Amino acid sequence: MLGPVILAASRSDRMRRLISAAPVTKQVVDRFIAGETVDDVIPIVQDLSAKGLELTMDVVGEDITTREQAAAARDAYLELVDRLKPLELGEKVEMSVKLSMFGQALEGGHELALANVRPVVEAAAEIGTTVTLDAEDHTTLDSMFAIHEELRRDFPQTGCVIQAYLFRTEADARRLAANGSRVRLVKGAYKEPAEVAYQQKHEIDKAYVRVLRTLMEGEGYPMIGSHDPRLISIAQELARQAGRKLDEYEFQMLYGIRSEEHLRLAAEGHRMRVYTAYGTDWYGYFMRRLAEKPANLRFFVRSMISK
Ligand code: FAD
Repeated sequence: MLGPVILAASRSDRMRRLISAAPVTKQVVDRFIAGETVDDVIPIVQDLSAKGLELTMDVVGEDITTREQAAAARDAYLELVDRLKPLELGEKVEMSVKLSMFGQALEGGHELALANVRPVVEAAAEIGTTVTLDAEDHTTLDSMFAIHEELRRDFPQTGCVIQAYLFRTEADARRLAANGSRVRLVKGAYKEPAEVAYQQKHEIDKAYVRVLRTLMEGEGYPMIGSHDPRLISIAQELARQAGRKLDEYEFQMLYGIRSEEHLRLAAEGHRMRVYTAYGTDWYGYFMRRLAEKPANLRFFVRSMISK
């Protein structure tokens, strides 16, 4: 019930100002956001890597409004890649990017986002790793998939994300599984209308399994982006049925969510990648995490009241 209200608030400037300024917000935000600067996150990268985990790094930010902000987003990723270089972790640390942060929604945004993301993909390739394009709301996806295809011509390891809640995803999965793409499958985190997306949890979960089967049976590299214990064991079974070895797919979870499970799966020999978000523009990312679990919101509200 509350999820859609919080997701609507995630797009409100007034709520953004109110929540960002609340004195207690930081301690709740810290659970999901690994730090504000690249200096904050490098020790986290080292710590998680030492524990046998892999990472995908997200410099938080989305829906920017100027070309300068888009260029700044590109530069923030380039700085990150530069700082990762001496760690020599290669593909154990990749980057996740939101094309809206690279200017996709501005005039001429498709070309602008492509022009901004390409240097990041090139820099990542130079240190032996890659980039995954996050999936945002459904109106952005045709452009995202076209950019993905374009980047894959030179960098076939470039990944993309598909969302089980969208009706279109089964067809997208068939195409991406046939062309050998790296694909992260998630349930979907945006507020989408009934014309384009399943609304009920059980329908989304069923779609997730159908799509995952397609990915597992295909030519690509499936990345299971979920904390759902049921889907994780189904994924293991589907991988077994498809004859995939442990290094022919991976699990991915968000920093700060079910951290014990990250370690358990890694200890079982699975590739386990932690989506690690950092930066100052955390509002949209944080609100989606609140919307996913009512208990997070209760904790947030309680901490505000008890101050
Ligand atoms: P759920 O059924 O929502 O959760 C299962 C269990 O996980 C819950 O019972 C709870 O124990 C735990 N859990 C889940 N979420 C939370 C939370 N916020 N706080 C505390 N506990 C929680 N969505 C997109 O639309 N585009 C993307 O590009 C994208 N990238 C993602 C990358 C990764 C690595 C992951 C893990 C998720 C990503 N998502 C993305 C978010 C995704 O769409 C879901 O909203 C999110 O993962 C919650 O769904 P779930 O599969 O974990 O299942």
